[in-house]
This record gives sequence, structure tokens and C-alpha cells, in this order.
Amino acid sequence: MLTFQGKSVINGVAIGKIFIYKKGEQQVKRTKIEDTESELARFRNAQQEAIKQLQDLYESSVKSIGEASAAIFEIHQMMLQDDGFVEAIENIIETQSVNAEYAVAATSDNFYKMFSDMEDDYMRERAADVKDISERLLTVLNGKSAGMEKLSEPVIIAADDLAPSETVQLDKDKVLAFVTVHGSLNSHTAILAKTMNIPALIGTPIPLDDTVDGKPAIIDGAKGILYVEPEEEILAQMQERKKAEEEQKELLLTLRGKENITLDGRKIKLYANIGNSKDLAMVLQNDAGGIGLFRSEFLYLEKEDYPTEEEQFTVYKTVAETMAGKKVIIRTLDIGADKQADYFKLAHEENPAMGLRAIRICLTRPEVFKTQLRALFRASAYGNIAVMYPMIISVDEVRKIKEIVAEVKKELEEQHIEYGEVEQGIMIETPAAVVMSDELAKEVDFFSIGTNDLTQYTLAIDRQNPELDAFYDSHHPAILRMIQTVVDNAHKAGIWAGICGELGADTSLTQEFLKMGVDELSVSPGRILPIRKIILETDVNTL
Ligand code: PEP
Ligand code: MG
Repeated sequence: MLTFQGKSVINGVAIGKIFIYKKGEQQVKRTKIEDTESELARFRNAQQEAIKQLQDLYESSVKSIGEASAAIFEIHQMMLQDDGFVEAIENIIETQSVNAEYAVAATSDNFYKMFSDMEDDYMRERAADVKDISERLLTVLNGKSAGMEKLSEPVIIAADDLAPSETVQLDKDKVLAFVTVHGSLNSHTAILAKTMNIPALIGTPIPLDDTVDGKPAIIDGAKGILYVEPEEEILAQMQERKKAEEEQKELLLTLRGKENITLDGRKIKLYANIGNSKDLAMVLQNDAGGIGLFRSEFLYLEKEDYPTEEEQFTVYKTVAETMAGKKVIIRTLDIGADKQADYFKLAHEENPAMGLRAIRICLTRPEVFKTQLRALFRASAYGNIAVMYPMIISVDEVRKIKEIVAEVKKELEEQHIEYGEVEQGIMIETPAAVVMSDELAKEVDFFSIGTNDLTQYTLAIDRQNPELDAFYDSHHPAILRMIQTVVDNAHKAGIWAGICGELGADTSLTQEFLKMGVDELSVSPGRILPIRKIILETDVNTL
């Protein structure tokens, strides 16, 4: 048995034979031509044909992998029309009187080098895209059809690297996974692999020869290991894991794309909770209708110092764009209590869960709050962003927040910076907010009930203390009554109310929540489909 360590893109297990995919690297000869005008026309025709192929590819992949991931094919179309790239090719044809193939290959090499030498990670990634579009042009010029050869059985594809267009053209029924020697976790290939839900290892130092070709193998995505000719024990273990994964996939297959609607026609929003943009693949894979809670504090916790407006904007924009118009509710920073970042220099507190945390920090340090709000509002121009504020206890706080938000908007307008419509909601996670929910409902666009904190504050049980587990009753009638109160008060004021605490994912309560009239449940991505199943099987009238 041989083992190779790579960087895993997806946690799945794949078991099958390895197939080494070698790109049909196009051999390009430099030939002198007489008629540069007709050679230029030949290049422009090929350019148009390549753009058309990419448009077709875009349209078919939008259906299979979604708009955000298919966007790479739009980017490729733009790159093919980029003035610098096109002029470089045409210039070589004209000044050197050479064939279009040579001009494309030479320009491709030059641009590839230029992008590879760039400092910025994102720009460096574009080098692979240059190669990809150039290969496509060459294929058209050579009169061959682009695409991957037909595979006869399902295999684990091993390659030096895979271009996005190659990845997306993989016949999913025949591809169990892929392993590449090169590539990075930021590459479109990795992103597409995640979205397509194919286990993938990149940066794996495998020899692309008979040592592995055609050999039985296993990819353990959780550990990022490729086993070639695995031992019996490993094989048995992985088969077991694969079986469990397949059962989950079965559920996915039948429920994806379905509406969350009860037998008697009640619709409910099923959104996902995330901590950072890396969770997005799971969100899409599990068919979430949006993001109901983006715990933005993780951006702060990962850093040694305050994340800048620009850093935050980039992350929020990525999430908004990836969700392609679906709602993305970003919660402003909930630092404090169990989530400490040293650079906030919070004083030691006897009782941090009841201390200076979340919105209290934002209201006492408006400059920190404003930086985040600016990033959020700027990102709202790129998708459907909503903002929600944690740990609210009074109407007064909400009004103060609104004043700060108004200042931020004014500043952006003065600076001619675009922003979109942003719904503003609050978390209901303190008993005070429940009691005041009739008043609060008049101030905001939605409520999201944070049952984790609401339970700890209502039952006076520290959620961090395992010694108290025996006393912690998440189904305590006080909590269930509070949820009902909040939902009723929301509806009276014409706004919606959801649950984003862990209780929302408790399938033993899904029917109860439907009966209560809860409008939205936001849960970890893996819980969406099991809840959808219950919703589809429920008739609220008979509960
Ligand atoms: C909650 O309190 O229920 C909640 C969703 O927020 P967090 O768990 O991040 O405190
Ligand atoms: Mg909370």
C-alpha cells in the first residue's frame, strides 16, 4: 500500500481505480504566412467560436452547479475579449507574419508568466485561466472539439492539474474523485469540486505513471490521504464510511430542489448557519434557501488585530455573490463571553456572559461597529444582504443602532459608494427582548431567536458548564412559550420570525415550530434536508 498526503477540498470518501488524465497538450509549430489579413480573420473566428462554447458551457453549468460557480465561464469569455490579450495575439500575427496558433501559444506563455509572477494570490490563480482559454482557442484553431475523452468506468482521476473547464466537463457518473499534483485551495477547480460535491485532493505528490495508473485506490477526504492498493483493514473501514455517506446522499437526491412546504400548503424558510465563507459549499450542497446566521465574529477571532473594512468587505461580498441573490443574514460581531479576541482588550469580568459583549461593545466602541457596518453595506451592492444585531435588550438600543446606521449610509452616499437595500433584524436571545418583542417588532424587519443564549439566560444555566447538563432542558416549556410569544408579536407587527439557535435544528420540535407559525429555521447545512423531509410530511391542521 502506498499513501500520499494532499490538501483535501471535500470530506468525502472515494473508492475506485485511478485513471491518469493527461491533457492533450497541443503541439504548436511556428509557420510563416503570406496573408496576415486572412490569418487575423481565422483567429477572430476561432475567438468567436471559443466564446460561444463558453457561453454554452455557462448555460449548462448554471443548471448543474449554480450561477456563482458557473461564473468562471463568463470570466473566461471576458478574458478572451480582453484588449491586452487580443492585441498581443494580433500583433504577433501581423508583425511576425506567423500562424494564429503560434501567436496564441506565445501570448499564452507570456501572460501565464506575467500572472504567475504576481504577488496577489487571486491574480496568480488567473495564470491557470490564461492557459485554459488559450488551449480552447488552439483546439478550435486545430478543428478538434474541446472536452474530455469518454470514460468507460467510474474512476478516480489523477492529473497534474485540472482546468476549470475540464473539471466541469467531467462526466459525474464516471468520476468518483480527483487528485491533482498542483492547484490551490483557492482555485476555481477547488471551488467547482466543492460545489459539484466530488471528493478532491490537490497538491498531492503522486507520480503520474504506472506506479498508480489503473491501481485500486481510496481517497479519505477527511484526512486528505490517497491510499493506493489499500490494505484490507483500511478498505473495510472506508467502505463503512462510504455507506453512511451514501445514505445521506440518497436523502439529498430526493429532497434537493424541493420547496419547504407542508401538506396543507404552509411554506417555511430553511436557511443555513455559517461561520465563514469556507462553509458555503455545504450550504449550496444542502440546498439552503439562504444564510440565516453568518457568525461574523469568526472573522475577528481568526485575526491578531481588528479586521479592516476591506478585509471584511471582501468576505461579505464573496458570500453575497456566491449565494447569488439568496438572502444572507450577517450578524454583527458577537465578541465577548466565550468568544474572546485579545486585541479587544476587554477587562476581566466576573461574569462575562452577562458582561460587555456583542452589541454592547459595538455601542461603546462605535468606530469598531462603523467599520463593520461600512463593509456590510458596501457588500450589499453585490447580493441580498441583511444585517442582524445580537444581544438586544431594549428599544433604545435599536434606536441607537439605527442612528449609527444612518450615519454610515450618509457617509457612503457622500463618498458616492454604492449600497443596496439592507433588511435589519435583531436576535431575540435575552428574556428582556422576548418581553419587549411587541415594541421591538415595530422597529425592525425581522426577528431571529437565539435559543442558545435565550435558554441560558432564561433558565439561569451557563451554557458552557458541562456540570449543569442535567439541569439544562432545551425543551423547557418557558422557552417554548417564549418562542410563541415572539412569533405572535412579530406577526402582529407584520414582520417574520425565525430561529437560528441550535433548537431550530431539533427535528423532534420541527412540527411544534410549524404549529407555532415560525417562519424560518436557520440550521447547520447538514440539518436542512432532514428538516425538509419532516416539513414535507406534515399537515399542520392535524397537529
Ligand atoms: C444563540 O445564542 O442561540 C445564537 C444563535 O448565537 P450564538 O450561539 O452564536 O451565541
Ligand atoms: Mg447568542
